[in-house]
Amino acid sequence: MPAPSRSITVLGAGILGLWQALILARAGHRVRLVEASEEPFADCASLYAAVMLAPDREAENAPPMLRQLGREGVGLWKGFYPQLKANGSLVVAAARDRGELDRFARRTQGHRLVDAGELANLEPDLHDRFTAALYFPEEAHMPAPAALAFMLAEVQRAGVEIAFGQADAGDGADLVVDCRGLAARDALPDLRGVRGERILIRTREVKLRRPVQLLHPRVPLYVVPWDEGLYMIGATLIESDEAGPMTVRSALELLGGAYAVHPAFSEAEILDLGAAVRPAFPDNVPRALVRDSGRRIYVNGAYRHGFLLAPVLARAVAAYIEDGTASELVVTSGL
Ligand SMILES: Cc1cc2nc3c(=O)[nH]c(=O)nc-3n(C[C@H](O)[C@H](O)[C@H](O)COP(=O)(O)OP(=O)(O)OC[C@H]3O[C@@H](n4cnc5c(N)ncnc54)[C@H](O)[C@@H]3O)c2cc1C
Repeated sequence: MPAPSRSITVLGAGILGLWQALILARAGHRVRLVEASEEPFADCASLYAAVMLAPDREAENAPPMLRQLGREGVGLWKGFYPQLKANGSLVVAAARDRGELDRFARRTQGHRLVDAGELANLEPDLHDRFTAALYFPEEAHMPAPAALAFMLAEVQRAGVEIAFGQADAGDGADLVVDCRGLAARDALPDLRGVRGERILIRTREVKLRRPVQLLHPRVPLYVVPWDEGLYMIGATLIESDEAGPMTVRSALELLGGAYAVHPAFSEAEILDLGAAVRPAFPDNVPRALVRDSGRRIYVNGAYRHGFLLAPVLARAVAAYIEDGTASELVVTSGL
């Protein structure tokens, strides 16, 4: 027999809270989504994401289970978001860093080495820029603002009551699903911030169809094509809670990276320079922590994987609420 419908308050309308609210409402629960900011996405890390769904590339520095879960995340996004750009992604390196490309290939899966000719077919504008690249065909991407707006509309359509400009504790609900991002440090002392800076530029001079990552000794640099000539250049990875303006050093590194991918980026207009802080646990693995005798579930620590894993986390939490199904993402030991 299915579990009875419950009254659930989701705190936080970043990407984790939106997916939780959607899946729980679709499972038949009465869901209220409470967001502290007055305007949608005014104070969330999610708006700053690239957004790449890159489980194969992320596997370079993540535990193997994240690759498998991330691949499931890509599948869930593909079935849900019609605007998803499922064109794969590329990794390149300057000729002097060819060894970096080989090292990256050894540490990741789901790719194949393409030569200059095939690279020119995939991305004509990279013709003559690189002699080889790694192609990750299963990866996908989407612009963060459009994806978040789509999610919010779907959450509304699923019947979720949404309250902006409120920061209540969810009192009165049967269950609180806490997705407050870094603000949940008041309850999760292990949570830390990892600053990420990114630049938005616009140009008609370069046309790319998929994210291009440039291997670089200090910064994981990438250029992600959004829409209408808009590109997101990211991103720094700095152990800091500071969300303030971008530094000159970071701007130089990011813009230098874009220039190395294609010199015509030097003619682009800079539209925005910004930074946000990713919430992360010590092992950089996101999870749902069940606390307060099962009345509160903290979903947090998404680090670089918030979009990638939000649907997988939401599915795992919904299964736990339904029948107590345990999973590697739902931790009940602190119950
Ligand atoms: C530069 C950059 C690039 C990134 N690129 C990628 C990428 O390519 N792919 C990917 O998967 N991930 C990427 N990420 C990571 C991703 O953005 C994060 O993992 C994700 O945004 C975390 O989502 P969240 O919902 O936990 O937190 P947030 O998005 O920060 O949302 C938390 C929300 O809770 C609200 N809140 C706070 N306190 C309260 C309260 N008391 N009551 C109600 N609401 C409250 C906040 O206002 C906020 O809206 C990137 C991050 C950065 C910074």
